[in-house]
Amino acid sequence: MKNENSTPRRRVAVVGAGISGPLLSLCLVRLGFEVDLYEAHVRRAQDVGSFLNLAPNGRAVLERLGLADRVLEQGTAASSIGFANHKGREIGRNPERTTNIMRGELSGALREVAVDAGAKLHTAKRLVALEETADGSWRTGFEDGTHTEADIVLGCDGVHSTTRRLLLPDAPRAAYTGVVGSGGRSEIDAAELPLDGRFHMVFGLRGFFGYQVVSPGVVWWFENHQETRERSFAELAEVDDAQWVALLAERHRPDPAVIRRVLTASTGPVGRWPVYEVPPLDTWHRGSAAVLGDAAHAVAPHLGAGAALGMEDAYELAVALHRHPTAPQAFTAFEESRRDRVAAMAKQARQTGAVMTPDRWITRAVRDLMLPMALRQGVRKGTEAYAYRPSPWPARRP
Ligand SMILES: Cc1cc2nc3c(=O)[nH]c(=O)nc-3n(C[C@H](O)[C@H](O)[C@H](O)COP(=O)(O)OP(=O)(O)OC[C@H]3O[C@@H](n4cnc5c(N)ncnc54)[C@H](O)[C@@H]3O)c2cc1C
Repeated sequence: MKNENSTPRRRVAVVGAGISGPLLSLCLVRLGFEVDLYEAHVRRAQDVGSFLNLAPNGRAVLERLGLADRVLEQGTAASSIGFANHKGREIGRNPERTTNIMRGELSGALREVAVDAGAKLHTAKRLVALEETADGSWRTGFEDGTHTEADIVLGCDGVHSTTRRLLLPDAPRAAYTGVVGSGGRSEIDAAELPLDGRFHMVFGLRGFFGYQVVSPGVVWWFENHQETRERSFAELAEVDDAQWVALLAERHRPDPAVIRRVLTASTGPVGRWPVYEVPPLDTWHRGSAAVLGDAAHAVAPHLGAGAALGMEDAYELAVALHRHPTAPQAFTAFEESRRDRVAAMAKQARQTGAVMTPDRWITRAVRDLMLPMALRQGVRKGTEAYAYRPSPWPARRP
C-alpha cells in the first residue's frame, strides 16, 4: 500500500471487535500492517446467554491461521445436527461436525490472539465520525471526543454499522426480519438428558428450538419465532427472564416435551434479540475505507452462517490488501470474489427461515409435508457452503 511519495501506508483503523474485527486485525498484523482496533463496548449485553454454531468453513479459516484449538477451546463440538418435526420424529440429519461456543467467549479469544500478535485494542471507543482528508487518508472521531488518523478504515461494526452509515450514506439500513431470537443455559440431571454430542433442532408448530447437552447436566438452547411487530432490544429486555421463559414454554406446548423441560430448567440470564439483515449494498467501499462481515451483508441467522462468513471476509480482505498495491484495488478484487457467495448464503438463509418459523397455518401445513425433502436439499446446500476453503496465506514480503 503506497502513497504518492511511495511511503508505505499501513496504518489501519478497524472498527468493531466482535468476530470479524479481531480476526481481521490479527491477519493484518501478521502481514505487517499497524492495526488499531476500536470497540464501543467492554462487554456487550447482547453476548450474554447467547451461543453460536460455528460451521466448518469458519473453523477452516482458524485452522489455516493455526488458531482453531486455541480460539475454540471454550467451545463444544457437535458431532452432527439432528432435525425433528413438532411430533418429535427425526426427519433429517446433517453429518457435519460444528462447534457451539458462547458468543462472548469466541469474541474474547479472538481479541486475545489479535492483541498477542500486536494489534492495539481500544475499548469504550464508539466511532461517531469519519472524514476523508485531502490525501485520501481518514480522520476518525469517537463518542468520548477523541480523534485519530488512519490510512485505511475497515468497518466490522455489525448489522447496525455506523461505519456503513458514515461511509456509504445512501446504503440501505438494516431491515427487521420479523423474527425474534433468544437463548440461554439450563441445568438438567444427566440421567434425564444425557450427553450425546448432538445439536438437536426441532421445527415446532409456532417456533424453532435448538439445544445441545454441552457437559453432563448443562444444556445450551436457543429459540426463534415470528413477531410481526418490531420490538427493540431494550423493549425485549423489559420482560424478566422467568416471564420470558414461561412465554416460550407456552408457545412450545404442542411440541415435544423436552423443549418445555429445557426451558423451565433455565438458569442464569436469557438473551433475546430482534433479528435484522442488511439488504444488498451497491458497493462495500469508498476510497480507502470499506465495510465487511455483518456491516456489509448481515444474513438472516437461520443457517448459522454469519460468523463463519465474517471470518472468511476478514481473512480474504487481509490477503487482498497485502496483494494489491492500493486499498481501492484490493477492495474491488475482494468484492468481486465475495459477492456471489454472500448472495447465495443470504438467499439460502431466507429460504431456511421461511420453513423454520412459518407465520400462518397454511404455510405450516405445506412445510410439514415438504420438510423431509427440503431438509435433504438444505443439507446438500449446507455441505456446499461449508466446503469453502481459504486462499493460500501469502509469504511475507522481505
Ligand atoms: C439470533 C442470532 C443467532 C445467530 N446464530 C449464529 C450461528 O449460530 N452461527 C453463526 O455463524 N452466526 C450466527 N449469527 C450471526 C453472527 O452472530 C454474526 O454474523 C457475526 O457476529 C458477525 O460478526 P461481525 O464481527 O461482523 O459483527 P458483530 O459480531 O456484531 O460485531 C460488531 C462489533 O462492533 C461493535 N460496534 C458496533 N458499533 C460500533 C461503533 N460505532 N464503534 C465501535 N464499535 C462498534 C459492537 O459492539 C460489536 O462488538 C447469529 C445472529 C443472530 C442475530
